[in-house]
Amino acid sequence: MHQSRGHPVFRAQHATATCCRGCLETNHHLARGRELDEQARAYVVEVICRWIEAEYDAAVPEPPLTTQPRLF
Ligand SMILES: [Zn+2]
Repeated sequence: MHQSRGHPVFRAQHATATCCRGCLETNHHLARGRELDEQARAYVVEVICRWIEAEYDAAVPEPPLTTQPRLF
């Protein structure tokens, strides 16, 4: 659990610059003052999900090998 570090989506939004319209405009070329259409929203969600997956992969260590033959 990493509750103290904030909700994963919240952290992802800042990491991927999807936290507000200003960042969306600067980093993702989604113009401010225009409602996000379905395609733009799907894009933003995908960016966030990809970041969370990458973060999760990086944070979770490889499981220990359990297939080694026992000697005794
Ligand atoms: Zn922002």
